[in-house]
Amino acid sequence: MNSDIRKMCVGLPPLTARLENWMSELLSDPTATERVVNEYGSPVNVIHTGALRRNAAELTDAAAFHGVDLRVFFARKANKALSFVDASNQAGLGVDVASERELRQVLKRGVPPQNVIVTAAVKPPRLLELSLSTGVTVALDNYDEADAYLALTAALGAGGGPAPVALRIASQNGDIAPTRFGLSVPDWLEWLDARDTAGFRIDGIHFHLHGYSARDRALVLSEAVAAIDDLRQRGHSPTFIDMGGGIPMSYLNDEAQWNAFESAHKAATLGEGPPLTWRNDGFGRRAEAGALVGTRNTYPYYQAPVRGDWFSALVDAYSNSSDRPRTLASDLRERGLHLRCEPGRSLLDGCGVTFARVLFRKRTSDGIPLVGLEMNRTQCRSTSADFLLDPVLVRGPRSGHPNQPFSGYLVGAYCVEDELILRRELSFPHGVAVGDIVALPNTAGYLMHILESESHQLPLAHNVVARDGGFVEDDLGGAATREPRL
Ligand SMILES: *Cc1c(COP(=O)(O)O)cnc(C)c1O
Repeated sequence: MNSDIRKMCVGLPPLTARLENWMSELLSDPTATERVVNEYGSPVNVIHTGALRRNAAELTDAAAFHGVDLRVFFARKANKALSFVDASNQAGLGVDVASERELRQVLKRGVPPQNVIVTAAVKPPRLLELSLSTGVTVALDNYDEADAYLALTAALGAGGGPAPVALRIASQNGDIAPTRFGLSVPDWLEWLDARDTAGFRIDGIHFHLHGYSARDRALVLSEAVAAIDDLRQRGHSPTFIDMGGGIPMSYLNDEAQWNAFESAHKAATLGEGPPLTWRNDGFGRRAEAGALVGTRNTYPYYQAPVRGDWFSALVDAYSNSSDRPRTLASDLRERGLHLRCEPGRSLLDGCGVTFARVLFRKRTSDGIPLVGLEMNRTQCRSTSADFLLDPVLVRGPRSGHPNQPFSGYLVGAYCVEDELILRRELSFPHGVAVGDIVALPNTAGYLMHILESESHQLPLAHNVVARDGGFVEDDLGGAATREPRL
């Protein structure tokens, strides 16, 4: 059944998405797939929260095996649906919020304030006021923010005692990429030494790194442990280190597919093989004097280790990064600390799929076959160059007559030449029909929401939750543009 549903659309070369059972079952039922799109419009994000608890448990189980008390906070910016807030809360996870509205919604949903951390990159006064009055932990990023929050504690007073905060640190290790976030440990210590910080309870050290390297996190964890000792010396009683997100996941089962794609794409970019991408897009790499320069700007769709095994690699890297015999577990235990993490993408692995309806087939003026979808490219995009998974094409009872087999590209609704839904060439061995449904797999982490826009007054996609064999709209509601009264 699984190979069957994939035969209608295959990438050149294929990148076969790993599907959760609920996805395969839904996609194997063309009538049900079509019904969701007919009912909620195109595109529609279908959500299933089942895998979230398992994904989190992979991390906490691995940590427990290594003697580490790890607490998982779901990074909510990865998907706006409230279903994931509820699922996180029910699984006993915390939530990491990035704005006042995210915070307000999470608290309204019943997440206990002590299970919430505010890591927003900018924190306007209203966000700080709400944080203070509700007693959630704030990860402080810079002097101005810390001074503003400290002044607020003096002005308003924190009802339940000093305000819980964490200090976001920027690594001083030369092996770690430079960052706009946080301040160095010496800078924080200088700030602490020059202030009366009685309005704060300094509960922890926080960091979040770009990329997915276990070794990088091990290095910065060492810095964080040293910073904890500095805080202790100054009379503070921190209880945690928060290592942020960036815990890797894999969208593909088959490493060989990923390697084959990489080498074919490199050859194409060098002009040594046929193009695989729209106008031979190098995804951040280009040929210069016969050599490839630049780095590929996409997620690594296959990687290993992920989640639990990745955590074990982190524990090993921590031990190996020092001459002193030590383990992460003992360093944390000796200081009475627990470890926190804030995964977004890897927690939502297996939790969503996006459907869009085919409206037309045509060719560009220079003959490239196109499939026009009722969606725009912000509705399946992250901040990287492309989403590199083969879609599943579903032909339902309302599909029209398919055309001849061909290969081409998916295009969308924004009125620009570069409006590609996916930038890889796809083969359609059974043609494409108007009314077919294109399913983009595993889109819950970032792909649905992080960049979606309402340009051209096109409504945002509805978000529906697959539950008990049916579908209900996520309580976030209000997703669709309301018709203005003209
Ligand atoms: C984005 C972000 C996360 C989540 O990152 P993932 O790569 O999705 O795991 C966690 N913490 C902070 C502070 C972030 O900015």
